[in-house]
Amino acid sequence: MHRIAAGGIAIECATFSPLLSELSDFRVLRGAELDSRYPFISAIDGIDFVPLLHANAVPGGVVRRSAYDALKTEFLAGLAAGAPWDGVYLDMHGAMAVEGLDDAEADFIGAVRTLVGPDCPISASYDLHGNLSTAIMEQLDLVTAYRTAPHEDAIETRERALRLLLRCLQAGRRPRKAFIRIPLLLSGERTMTLIEPGRSVYAGIPELIDGDAVLDVSLLVGFTWADQARSQAAAVAIGWDEAATRSAARSLASAYWGARRDFDFGVPTGSVDDCISLALAADESTVFLSDSGDNITAGAAGDCPFVLERMLARAVPQSLFAGITDASAVAACFDAGSGARLTLSLGGKLDPLHGHPLTVNGIVKRLGDSPERGRQVVLTVDNVDVVLSERRSGFTALARFSELDIDPLDYKIVCLKLGYLVPDFQRIAPLAVMALSPGAVYALPETLPFHKLIRPIYPFDRDFDWTP
Ligand SMILES: [Zn+2]
Repeated sequence: MHRIAAGGIAIECATFSPLLSELSDFRVLRGAELDSRYPFISAIDGIDFVPLLHANAVPGGVVRRSAYDALKTEFLAGLAAGAPWDGVYLDMHGAMAVEGLDDAEADFIGAVRTLVGPDCPISASYDLHGNLSTAIMEQLDLVTAYRTAPHEDAIETRERALRLLLRCLQAGRRPRKAFIRIPLLLSGERTMTLIEPGRSVYAGIPELIDGDAVLDVSLLVGFTWADQARSQAAAVAIGWDEAATRSAARSLASAYWGARRDFDFGVPTGSVDDCISLALAADESTVFLSDSGDNITAGAAGDCPFVLERMLARAVPQSLFAGITDASAVAACFDAGSGARLTLSLGGKLDPLHGHPLTVNGIVKRLGDSPERGRQVVLTVDNVDVVLSERRSGFTALARFSELDIDPLDYKIVCLKLGYLVPDFQRIAPLAVMALSPGAVYALPETLPFHKLIRPIYPFDRDFDWTP
């Protein structure tokens, strides 16, 4: 039996967002509360799996230092209390920034390493939108990342990280690692694996793995909206054979670099008004329109009403706007009650850098309350049903609509604070367009004021050569 401790902190932090991520923004689970996160455990023989603490947050701004310190301290205390361990599995996202700590994962993983010592193997799973660094790779024995974006393989990636760890424990050896930083930083919206060339680059990964000389290979496209030196893509390979492992990482890095000019948004894009015009002119009965600059799932505040303002100004037919995070507007609607008409100042409060409040007059159509998301309101303003939420929370599943009795296909335009559409909406959207709207995660990051990136880096710099 191999005793393995598990846990981690997972958040994606947009450093261009003025919001700070607080302790209350994390969902912290401990011990048996984590069973559903690791449903594969019962099928793995030979391990005593001990989940200690996992903290997961909606993507946001930089994490408040005291919040990070509290989570790190609790995890390390659990790790110390249960020591010694045969191995440690860290369940991370990989794009965490903390006040005063740009490379927060290096700090966290480094602290784990200090505690468990040099002989205890550490394996980590990452989102492919994580940013690795040499400091991180020096502390990890194994790392593997998602292979799909939109993400559909989170559980399978966790299982792979754990099985790789177990494989090393059973073999009684430490694997070789190859880590190649690639001078490329393309957003998730440009690197989806559903379309070319992302599909082919990622489809090449299994061919590089033979299960012996090369045990695993990952490509992390990185997280764009973090102004940090480590923000860039990386190829990683793990294996028993050093030359084969290097060669696999090099092949994957070359494939990604070689395809760099072909990556593009998978859907029509344009200014907010261009996208509204496109939707209005479309034959499709419903058009999903991404308000990409204020995409909550990439860390933006989700309270910029600019696209709503334009939809109202354009007098769109029956449409849906999901949504605006605004606790005071939600409270006012609950006070007024269902059916009431009221005038509200919507949004522009959490992120005043990228939006200003919009005054609307609307009717409270529906009130909702959920333990996870708090109170929500559907407010009808002219022809637009606007979803208001008291807490930041992305519309990432159809259940978000059904719990509010909303069928998105009843509307001509469905505006979502997303970048690419998540799988639930990919499946049903007759047509999708993406507006290059204002916000903390503006869809053309190469136009934003970055200061810490290691240059040159594509597409910020275009005229340079590189070989892995
Ligand atoms: Zn991701």
